[in-house]
Amino acid sequence: MINSTVKLVFITGGVVSSLGKGLASACLGSILQARGYKVKLKKLDPYLNVDPGTMSPYQHGECYVTDDGAETDLDLGHYERFTGVPAKNSDNITTGKIYSNVISRERRGDYLGATIQVIPHVTDAIKEFILSDINDEDFVLCEIGGTVGDIESLPFIEAIRQLGNELGFSRTCFLHVTLLPFIKTAGELKTKPTQHSVKELQGMGIQPDILLCRTEVEIPEEQKSKIALFCNLKPESVIEALDAKSIYHVPISYHNQGLDNQICKHFHLDLDKKPDLSRWLNINKIQETSEGTVNIGIVGKYTSMVDAYKSLIESIFHGGLSNKVNVSIKWIDSEELENKELNINNVFKDINGIIVPGGFGFRGSEGKINGINYARVNNIPFFGICFGMQMAVLEFARNILKFKNASSSEFGKTDFPLIGLLTEWQSNKGIEKRNKDSNLGGTMRLGAYDCKLSKGTLVQSIYNQDIISERHRHRYEVNYEFNSDFEKHGMIFSGMSPSMTLPEILEIPSHPWFIGVQFHPELKSKPFDPHPLFSSFIEAALNNSRLL
Ligand code: GLN
Repeated sequence: MINSTVKLVFITGGVVSSLGKGLASACLGSILQARGYKVKLKKLDPYLNVDPGTMSPYQHGECYVTDDGAETDLDLGHYERFTGVPAKNSDNITTGKIYSNVISRERRGDYLGATIQVIPHVTDAIKEFILSDINDEDFVLCEIGGTVGDIESLPFIEAIRQLGNELGFSRTCFLHVTLLPFIKTAGELKTKPTQHSVKELQGMGIQPDILLCRTEVEIPEEQKSKIALFCNLKPESVIEALDAKSIYHVPISYHNQGLDNQICKHFHLDLDKKPDLSRWLNINKIQETSEGTVNIGIVGKYTSMVDAYKSLIESIFHGGLSNKVNVSIKWIDSEELENKELNINNVFKDINGIIVPGGFGFRGSEGKINGINYARVNNIPFFGICFGMQMAVLEFARNILKFKNASSSEFGKTDFPLIGLLTEWQSNKGIEKRNKDSNLGGTMRLGAYDCKLSKGTLVQSIYNQDIISERHRHRYEVNYEFNSDFEKHGMIFSGMSPSMTLPEILEIPSHPWFIGVQFHPELKSKPFDPHPLFSSFIEAALNNSRLL
């Protein structure tokens, strides 16, 4: 059973999707933390996939990977970036996972002949998940994905209603995030969609305790009173969530609007204890005083869906913070770089650093290789992440080592799989084995693995450590057999798996900054603790901008 003092805050969303509920939850977590409380955040996703690992980034945005190897919702990235608490497998559940768990229990005969129903079996499984893996936390913030009224989320809403009833007012709080649309022609904020959304929630047995209202203009007091009257709340429980210039302003802005105060009031906690928001004030100050701009080009396939690169964008921004410089991102569609007529100099004009991020499949891969070639030949700082590292290996192999048909087995049959399917490796669960017929879901090399850095290399000086741990998500791996050919021609594998069989990092020592990593450093960067690779890359790009 859970500890007897933990408080649960359930966060639901109404009116429209994309309200930034995940960010709101993360920000609330960070302000409660600033008041000295220990927090944990969880996300309940109503879709039927077991996890987002097999979903297209166009559908779902980034798939955020945890240290313990779970493929999770991108909101867990917000949670970790804002609170610094490492996300875990047990922090994200989907309808698919709940049902597959209930069905396998049924097959085992665990239900002793009962008819399996949404209530109580599915709702019990949801409650079990919500209450699992809670230790000495003061608060568990639990976000319910989707919008109130969706068919898929009904069992989740029912489960939190039951928990509210079982644990009572002193242990649970319902926070509903809504939108107040501003009608320009009338010059007015409209409260009706919020009233309807709250009514919908009340119809399911939940009375929200606090409303967090997204708005593009300040909410007049009389509008707050009106919402309070119709939604059965006190006006001070209607909190304004005004659009912010930067997501890192949001914790302070929520605090100024009284969000943490209302939560503490609800739970009868000490109101005199003020949060220490210096971490966020400091970040805001750096943002306001940053000078100059570096231009970073990202060559990718999902450039029309930037949520696919959520953590990457944030990490680049964190790198800017540590160098006190603004960063502007130019999105470059990798397929466009395959056009033979294109003047590539025009594409990269004014670009101070090039990133080729993670990716999957053949489409656009030749364009990525062209972009990497441009960075290598023109001495532009280059950072290849996962697929980006693999493509940097192919670029170097084809153009320098003259391995003209070097390819990846990800692209189909090849007689030179320089990047090959990883079939056997050591994880903390033991020896993992795969073959080309293995299931696609959850079978990549996932989660945190150690990596050994070679002495005297650029990465070793950046990390200032000999052994690092970073998160992985890939199926293919660079073939180390040709190591001496690469080394002889100036590309070294400066980071290796502890077994010394899997290349994890490459660099070109004669280039100003050319690094490829098989893992995803962007998953661990925080605004108050920028990842060293991103800080160093932005510094190199800054030096490049001074040369132009
Ligand atoms: N598609 C590549 C692989 O599976 C790279 C994956 C990635 O960039 N995350 O190995």
